[in-house]
Amino acid sequence: MSNSKFDKFLLKYFEENDFQKTLGVFKEDLKKKKSATDSLSFTILKAPKNIIDIELKQSGRKKRSKEVVKIPKQFKRIARKVGIPKEHFEFFFEHRTRFNWDLFKPTVYCTVCKETSEHFEFCFTKHMIEKHNYTDCSCDFADCQFVANSESSLLRHKSSFHGMGKRKPSARAHLRCKYPSCNYQASIDYALQRHYSIHENRSTECYLCSTRMCNALKFKDHVSAHFNITDFDCNFCSKKFTSNVKRNAHERATHGTFICADCGLDLKTSSKFNKHRTNCDERKKAFIQ
Ligand SMILES: [Zn+2]
Ligand SMILES: [Zn+2]
Ligand SMILES: [Zn+2]
Ligand SMILES: [Zn+2]
Ligand SMILES: [Zn+2]
Ligand SMILES: [Zn+2]
Repeated sequence: MSNSKFDKFLLKYFEENDFQKTLGVFKEDLKKKKSATDSLSFTILKAPKNIIDIELKQSGRKKRSKEVVKIPKQFKRIARKVGIPKEHFEFFFEHRTRFNWDLFKPTVYCTVCKETSEHFEFCFTKHMIEKHNYTDCSCDFADCQFVANSESSLLRHKSSFHGMGKRKPSARAHLRCKYPSCNYQASIDYALQRHYSIHENRSTECYLCSTRMCNALKFKDHVSAHFNITDFDCNFCSKKFTSNVKRNAHERATHGTFICADCGLDLKTSSKFNKHRTNCDERKKAFIQ
């Protein structure tokens, strides 16, 4: 898409979504751009990009309370044109400022090893079969329809869903899974429904490597890994990760403790640590200054 087309698209998007503040700043930038030379347009364009990121972070937080992202028709048309199936629209819309939509040629990374590929549909499917032993493996419990991508993922599924050596559920976990062969208990209905999507094999297939996933959040992390989008910073060192899960695993393995760098509180676990970090008064002070 040309710059002016993209500007119009953004303008419309900000108006439709009532991003008044962004709209104001963006219009100012457009005015400046009009009077600037071509060589300046790059720097000016950068400003709205950061603004989009801020708006997205806010809407991303709201989305947890079930707000659905509205994807503009024009974006869908562009995405379809470069070969992205509709199951992936939301991911690409959220990360749209990271891709060049005129020349859509992003490097695709294997989510397991370091291999890279050009972007095309199912570019990693053969690789997953040959290098990572992908093969469809159905769960053999009669009341479970789950089909794993590999022998090892089926083993993990069987031990966590149907295994005997399960963790004792917490006292708050009072909702029992309706499948007799499974001993999972959840504390909230949302978690139980997400759990059922695995038993019922309600999955989305990755258009790059054919991996199927039942959990929308894991699916997003998976696609982020394909494009090496490292939005998750280690709280202790300079390393960056493609998902919260990978970041937390790194922190536990490498840094061991969860001490807030701003107020010095020792939080013991990564989840308590992350919760604290968003609320830490000392940290907030650093942002305001
Ligand atoms: Zn690989
Ligand atoms: Zn099963
Ligand atoms: Zn279950
Ligand atoms: Zn994939
Ligand atoms: Zn680190
Ligand atoms: Zn703190």
